[in-house]
Amino acid sequence: MRSMGVYIHIPFCIQKCVYCDFLSGPATRQRQQEYVDALLREIVWESKHYAVYTVKTIFFGGGTPSVLEAGDIARILDCLREHYRIDADAEITLEMNPGTAAWDKLVNFKQAGINRFSIGLQSADNTELKMLGRIHTYEAFLQTYHQAREAGFANINIDLMSALPGQHIENWVRTLEKVVALQPEHISAYSLIIEEGTQLYEHRDTWAPVPDEEEDRQMYQETKRILAEHGYRRYEISNYAKHGFECRHNCIYWQRGVWHTADFAGFGLGASSTVGNWRWENTKEMERYLTVFQEHNLKQYDSRLAKNISSERTVKEAVTRLSHLEQMAEFMFLGLRMMEGVSKQEFADSFEADINEIYGSALQKWLQMGMMAQEGDIIMLTDAGIDVSNTVLSDFV
Ligand code: SF4
Repeated sequence: MRSMGVYIHIPFCIQKCVYCDFLSGPATRQRQQEYVDALLREIVWESKHYAVYTVKTIFFGGGTPSVLEAGDIARILDCLREHYRIDADAEITLEMNPGTAAWDKLVNFKQAGINRFSIGLQSADNTELKMLGRIHTYEAFLQTYHQAREAGFANINIDLMSALPGQHIENWVRTLEKVVALQPEHISAYSLIIEEGTQLYEHRDTWAPVPDEEEDRQMYQETKRILAEHGYRRYEISNYAKHGFECRHNCIYWQRGVWHTADFAGFGLGASSTVGNWRWENTKEMERYLTVFQEHNLKQYDSRLAKNISSERTVKEAVTRLSHLEQMAEFMFLGLRMMEGVSKQEFADSFEADINEIYGSALQKWLQMGMMAQEGDIIMLTDAGIDVSNTVLSDFV
């Protein structure tokens, strides 16, 4: 029996945040229902490929999955339970935005089987939230957070974002201090990246400047210091958790070698999947996705990964077979994001190759420069290496 994670993409949001380049946007209730119906058909149709798997984690991402009715989420989970083998202890996460789930909805999410909430706060400063185009205030977040606790959620992540336009270290520290006072089990803290095509990118000349590299680095240092003081361990470059609350879904992805699998089934618009050496992603075109998974079109649907399948009959795109070298590269650059680092023996067992033969010169360089360290069988980034992780990790791609 093999293990896997399931990702469900819900591409709906109340409004678009200025920095967002995710596949998401506002939609009518009718469109949401059509989408959920199509999603259920995809989940059922694909189940025959996953008969030998036990699902260890389910992650509803987006978008804002909490804009759906709790009944929609319950239908999706019931469908998964009916057609897949779900581990009794599976981690089931739902991403949510403050203000999209009142008390009743939270209770119903819990009853449906959600056992982990990931709340997108980003900042505890209302001026920053407004600038980012978020739909909520800090007070609305607090209400959602406390209600989620009352509803019985004992595993909550809060997403934060630093290096915002006009932000200084003092603003960021204030956000961190407010959040740690709440004692969530998990905190994700990423730096803002201004992606092409976003509103922020298009009007970047009119925004206050973002913190420079030095200040960005200081923010990372402060994040690590403050969170450590409050009992959070950094286990991945941008992720911190109380003991035992590391996000299992993401760990499967990052620790390919440790879990002996990084198999992921992604369902929904734009969702990507990795199964064995194969990777693909679903179409990003809503009309096409809905058409392919309409009831009367399903018998035509071909879910094989052959290169010659007609594009009208599948939603799978960018189908790639990962080469041995690509798999080794992923093992390195994803594994090294984890503070635990990578095991040389694990590498040898997974690829029947000596890590020094493949990456000897890069390892040598970064070890000598103090950006990496070696303890017995384990190779990891040092604190200095984490500060320049993009540069270091790019050497393994
Ligand atoms: S809520 Fe999240 S997914 Fe939706 S627009 Fe904002 S950042 Fe993007």
